[in-house]
Amino acid sequence: MTTTEAASALPQEFPTLETLRSLIGGEWVDGAGATKEIRNPATGEAVSRLAFSSSEQIDEAVAAAKRAQREWAKVPVAARAATLLDAVNAIEAHVEEICLWISKEMGKTLAQAREELVDTTLLLSRASIEHGRTLSGQIQPASDAHFADRRVQVIYQPVGVTAFISPWNFPVEMFMNCIASMVMGNACVWKPSEWAPSGPLITARIFAEAGIPAGLLNVVWGGAEEGERLVAHGDVGVVCFTGSTAVGEQISRTAGVKRLVLELGGNGPLVILDDADLDRAVNAAVVDCFYQAGQVCTAAERVLVHEAVHDEFVSRVAEAARNLNVGDQLDEATEMGPLSDQRILDKVIAHVEDARTAGATIVTGGEHHGLFYQPTVITGVTPDMRIAREETFGPVLPVIKISSAEEALKIANDSEYGLTMAVFTSSLQTAYMMGEGLAAGQVNVNAGTTSAEVGAPFGGWKKSGIGRILGEAGCREFTNVKTLCISTG
Ligand code: NAD
Repeated sequence: MTTTEAASALPQEFPTLETLRSLIGGEWVDGAGATKEIRNPATGEAVSRLAFSSSEQIDEAVAAAKRAQREWAKVPVAARAATLLDAVNAIEAHVEEICLWISKEMGKTLAQAREELVDTTLLLSRASIEHGRTLSGQIQPASDAHFADRRVQVIYQPVGVTAFISPWNFPVEMFMNCIASMVMGNACVWKPSEWAPSGPLITARIFAEAGIPAGLLNVVWGGAEEGERLVAHGDVGVVCFTGSTAVGEQISRTAGVKRLVLELGGNGPLVILDDADLDRAVNAAVVDCFYQAGQVCTAAERVLVHEAVHDEFVSRVAEAARNLNVGDQLDEATEMGPLSDQRILDKVIAHVEDARTAGATIVTGGEHHGLFYQPTVITGVTPDMRIAREETFGPVLPVIKISSAEEALKIANDSEYGLTMAVFTSSLQTAYMMGEGLAAGQVNVNAGTTSAEVGAPFGGWKKSGIGRILGEAGCREFTNVKTLCISTG
């Protein structure tokens, strides 16, 4: 489908995608702030223009959410769930338009955009609706005979207005967190990334026009300044942020005493031991390092390989890297598209150069044309190099040679981050030793760092985050816990 065909396939009266608007209280309004042009990273062509929301518009969005939430909280949870499910289902008819824009604005392939939208966003939104609909409280016994007539319940109530701030690498996916919040009786103000806005805008438009109350979902635009305005707002009860650790730390300073759900950066180690199934381990490493050009929070940022299988592993991943079809992300045959923008490219170049200078060997890759960075395999990496310590966020597979599971555990845990970690081993004993010992929010054994589990809580340890999304735990983040004691005597 060409760009023009996709634009004409959009619902009638769709706001022109050259000036993306804000959604406030059920109305689409022109942003009164600065404008930003969005460019296709493969071609440099300007594809859309965004108008940032002004401070007043952000305040209006919060006020609209506050009004809508008062009524929404009175709707029984089963009815809330039914309304939300219908609106989520309406998105299904527009998958191709949304994916085209995700792909065009941030560079992931069309297939990867469909995975983001269908296999993750829609699937997990529906799962959250079900988790929220069936979430129960507790009844517990009174503490002693003195309170014999007391009945004690622990109940979960809506917080009010929830603010969502999301990144460009999964521009639409974080919408699923808005759904979890809404099913729990809250209203939302969403500030998607200013780097890939059209996919979120189309998603929000279809959802908002599918029968949900005006003001329940509001969309505002901007960068750091606008994000801070939203985070600092006194009527925002929860801030749910997905993005870099540096910005997450800034948000926690700005928010003060406010509920925070922070889903931040990672430095996922993928550990391959001498008893690993090498076929599975090689496949996992290629996906974990090169999927979406490595621009994934759960990417394998360092691959720890046992010396007994090191050489064979390296030769197999290097061959796979050379065979990857890198090119225009809108071509269905492409397996890896460009990096999203110059900031990402600069960091990848800096990390690879730092490793090369410090004595590492580039086995394959290491070059770029425009924003297309070659799938790169590096050996001789040591744990102190920048490429092993920081989040590179590019298509690089840095190999650290290890000689035991114990050594791997020590290196893996010597990190500021703890999002996902993975280990390949055929020993049940080692699986448990590593599984229980690795310091991360999720550990996968015999599956890669990017392998997700639907319905289980997701989130990081240490500088990878605070709080959980998804599953029951994710729904609870958008509630206030109340202990209700009723003395009946
Ligand atoms: P980023 O932190 O630069 O920006 C994320 C969002 O925050 C954007 O919408 C941006 O406009 C906004 N923002 C920027 N400064 C702000 C401020 N001071 N106050 C409020 N909002 C502000 O991140 P990014 O480059 O868009 O995304 C990549 C990062 O996100 C990577 O570090 C990646 O690991 C992380 N990420 C984490 C997860 C996860 O689930 N843990 C998922 C996806 C991405």
